[in-house]
This record gives sequence, structure tokens and C-alpha cells, in this order.
Amino acid sequence: MQITLKQAAQKIQAANKILVTAHILPDGDAVGSTLAMLQILRSIGKSAQVFIDDTVRANLHALPHFDEIRRPAADEKFDADLLLILDTEPGRIGNVRNLTDAPILNIDHHVTNSGEDYDLYLEHEAAATCEIVFDFARELGAEITLDVATCIYTGIATDTGFFQYSNTRAKTLRTVSELVTCGVRPNEISEQLEKKSLAEVRDMCRALQSARIYFSGKVAGIFLTRAESTEGFIDLIRVINGVDVAFMINEKAPNFCRVSMRSKGVDVATIADSLGGGGHVRAAGCTLKTSIDEATKILVAAIGKALHVENPSDAGTLLADIA
Ligand code: AMP
Ligand code: MN
Ligand code: MN
Repeated sequence: MQITLKQAAQKIQAANKILVTAHILPDGDAVGSTLAMLQILRSIGKSAQVFIDDTVRANLHALPHFDEIRRPAADEKFDADLLLILDTEPGRIGNVRNLTDAPILNIDHHVTNSGEDYDLYLEHEAAATCEIVFDFARELGAEITLDVATCIYTGIATDTGFFQYSNTRAKTLRTVSELVTCGVRPNEISEQLEKKSLAEVRDMCRALQSARIYFSGKVAGIFLTRAESTEGFIDLIRVINGVDVAFMINEKAPNFCRVSMRSKGVDVATIADSLGGGGHVRAAGCTLKTSIDEATKILVAAIGKALHVENPSDAGTLLADIA
């Protein structure tokens, strides 16, 4: 059930022991929003603990209180009276779901979140969950310390591609302006977030070599196998002139393909939703439990249909072979 920000804040005020979590394959918004919320909750006298059921990419390890994030052990239980889920719906939190039977409070900005069986505060116009967390800090009367501001800034910066994507709204920049007033240094955070290991840059080169073009240049895709971190890779092809939909498929394990999509116009949230995933109109994803070849066929056909092309199946052309 969708509730208001005030109602959600009341539920937080009524709780004492709060388990905070976010989605698997955590990004800057997932980690930033949980760590900001951890500090906000403690500052208003709550007991709080963050669990995320996944590894977190190295660039985010420098965030304040990062070392306190726990990963649930098999069959572990955690005593809580509220399960606060940030930046995703309850279906994408892995084993954290089994840690407690406490009621759920979900705070999210994904348009595909249905809020069917749980309390949901959804603001799909928000650029990031971190943008909403800032409002909760205000509502709860918590101070925005430099550490809280650093976490919130990180989530907003990563979800907006450093304020380049269409989700960047006036309110996003007003919020960020306040964070900078709190002492956040955008250049230092950008430098930290953009760092890549040699292995990541090598994977990036491979990804670009794999690029294929579909539907007369309207769609571009890159392909990876077992890449650990793919942050920003999709932007390599998103920028190609004439490309509306860019996609990336990373076969993380045999018959387990992670799919990312970015668009300039087409609603990729609906495409992702139809394939069991979700996201935003211009940035969405899903997981396809098939081979990478099969996943490519399924995805290209779904994108082709959304683009209303005459023949939605296309084997594509290797970018390197295009004159
Ligand atoms: P990504 O391409 O991984 O950066 O994801 C783009 C957006 O889609 C993010 O907001 C994700 O939270 C969302 N998303 C990605 N994969 C899924 C999925 N399997 N289910 C629901 N949402 C997803
Ligand atoms: Mn996220
Ligand atoms: Mn987000």
C-alpha cells in the first residue's frame, strides 16, 4: 500500500530496532541510502543495523560506516521491529528477507515497484532514493552531518550519472546544493567513484570490442562474461549518435545473464518489467536465466517490438565491421 512521507516517518518513529537494507548488486544509491539512513536513525535514538546480501564494489568502501554493513549468514535471524527496504522492492534483497518477520517499510523511487503487500513510500520523480532520504532526515528532525551528506551525495551522483541523466530535476540540484553547504566536496567524491582497476579497464576494452549495432543504428549492445564490475560500461555505447536503446549483457555465471538498458526515449522499464526485471523509464534491468546467445535474442526481440520495427529479430552487426 502506498503511504505518505509523513506516515512513513511515523512508522520509523514508532520502531526501535530497525534493520535497513537495499538491493542485491548494490549501487551507489543502495549503499549511500542505507548508510545515510543508518546514521539518521541512530541520531534520533534508534538502534539500527544495515544488511546487504551481496559484495559491494571497491569504490564505495570509503563511505562512512561502510565497515558496519553485514551480509546475512545462511539461516541467520535478526531481532528487529521494522524492516526498512531502500532503493528496491522486497523481492530484490536476497537472504535479508529471511532475517526477520518484522513489518516492512519500503522507500523507493522505482516506477515498477507495485507496493502490493507492504507499506511503500514511492517517489518516482526522485532522482535517487538518497534524494528521498534527505527529506526523511528533515522530517525526522535529524542533523545532516558531513558523513550523512557524503552518503546522500554519493547516491544522487551515481543514479544521475553525475547530473547528466534526465532524472536530474531542480529539486535534485537544490538538495545537492545543501549537501555542498554541509561540506561535501563534489570533486573528491567524483574522483573516488570514477576510479577503475586495470582489470576493469581491460574488461571495458573487451566490452567495446564486442559492441554490436541493431535496427539500423537505433540499438547498440555490449557483451561480457564473468565481469565483476561493469559500472559505466553501458555509457560507452549510450553516447553513439542515433542510438536510442543501449544494452549490456553480462553472463555472470553459466545461464545467468545480468541485463542493463539505457534509453533516450523508449520506455525500457516496461521492457525490463516484461522480462521479470524493473527500473526506470530510461534506465532499467533484469536477469535472464539462459545462455548469453538466447538472452541476446530475447532482449533484442523485446527492444525491437518496443521500437515498432518491421522485423523485431536482428542478429546485429559487429561495430568493428561497420565501415
Ligand atoms: P542497472 O542497469 O543495473 O544500473 O539498473 C538500472 C535500473 O534498473 C536500476 O534502477 C535498477 O535498480 C533497476 N534494475 C536493474 N535490474 C533489475 C531487476 N532485475 N529488477 C528490478 N529492477 C532492476
Ligand atoms: Mn539502485
Ligand atoms: Mn536508485
